[in-house]
Amino acid sequence: MNAVASTLDISALRDQFPILATEINGHPLTYLDSAATTQKPDAVIDAISDYYRHDNANVHRAAHTLADRATSAFEGARKKVAAFVGSENEKQLVWTRGTTEAINLVAYAWGGRVLQEGDQILVSTLEHHSNIVPWQLVAARCGAEVVPIRITDAGEIDLEELRRLLKGPARMVAVGHVSNALGTVNPVREIAKLAHEAGALVLFDGAQATAHQVVDVRELGCDFYAFSGHKMYGPTGIGALWGREELLAEMPPWQGGGEMIDEVSFDGSTFQQIPYRFEAGTPDIAGAVGLGAAVDFLNGLDRDAIAAHENDILQYAIERGDDFDGLTRYGCASQVSGAFSFVLNGLPSADVGMLLDQQGIALRTGHHCTQPLMSRFEISGTVRASFALYNTREEVDRLFTGLAKVRTMLS
Ligand code: PMP
Repeated sequence: MNAVASTLDISALRDQFPILATEINGHPLTYLDSAATTQKPDAVIDAISDYYRHDNANVHRAAHTLADRATSAFEGARKKVAAFVGSENEKQLVWTRGTTEAINLVAYAWGGRVLQEGDQILVSTLEHHSNIVPWQLVAARCGAEVVPIRITDAGEIDLEELRRLLKGPARMVAVGHVSNALGTVNPVREIAKLAHEAGALVLFDGAQATAHQVVDVRELGCDFYAFSGHKMYGPTGIGALWGREELLAEMPPWQGGGEMIDEVSFDGSTFQQIPYRFEAGTPDIAGAVGLGAAVDFLNGLDRDAIAAHENDILQYAIERGDDFDGLTRYGCASQVSGAFSFVLNGLPSADVGMLLDQQGIALRTGHHCTQPLMSRFEISGTVRASFALYNTREEVDRLFTGLAKVRTMLS
């Protein structure tokens, strides 16, 4: 184990993730798919179970003790998650099902009101489909256009191209903080500055960032920030949109129903203040509580040491990959985080993934919901190993032992 890991006691941390002790196909699980979803620590599993065992009720409405408890657990979680991303207050934190829904919310509620014929939304070629398709759907309704920002061979956003595009009618620049497919860490502060100088807003897709680095939305200078609980040790089905207060306050609701209204009559309805205006229906209360527990878990760790450990694992994988015959790595940005993407001897990634799975190694293959990016590199997909705080150098070694077997079997 490396020096950073030994000060962190990765082994003790791993013990907090019960699933990591599982055997898969007769081998110890080697979980290298955290960019798809992270595993969950006991603290999160217990928080959800305790909530259902002791506090479950619907929030915000009923005048009884359990409902009060559920409401304070739910709103307490909102406060924690808002603070976790550096929000000034919890009003700016809207619960969503995840990153996808958060981006759809902005596309429909902000874009639906503001975008007009001829306007442009700039998205990078690196983007996950969830930061492309919602914009395409809204753009088609209002005659706006989604324009890709080129990337370089290293997998970095071409800032010169962005500068050039920003001379046109761009209203929004929507880019990932960290790429799920290549691990590229984008220069988000600079992108925000360029966009604002040109009068456009910025949305960052933080799905792959919040688990790995400290995020402060104000320091990043963004207008909207979207993220998912399940990628940061929390449960699936919950995530959030952070937005600048004055922008959220001007945005109309995008879904109607209970909870989001002020008054309803057949003459028309009026709506709640932010954030409730965007939260129609019974929310994922246990999910919010679980995400609050994930935030407590992360806050209880030395985040710099975790980042250093994760970087050590990734750099070790890159080094081993560079020495591995037939392995072509995709994405060689100057700053990378979390993901190691490659093609082995031109073999179909699904075959490689299946043979690794037989050895207990779980990773993701295919286009990673980034088809335009795959087209850019003229490939149909990659094999992607992705890392979280519980991974070790030994697991990277297992990956390469597994790949050596796959290479022999398939050649
Ligand atoms: N953006 C990125 C960069 C992602 O990695 C993902 C999930 N793979 C998403 C968006 C979508 O997240 P979710 O499915 O949790 O909404």
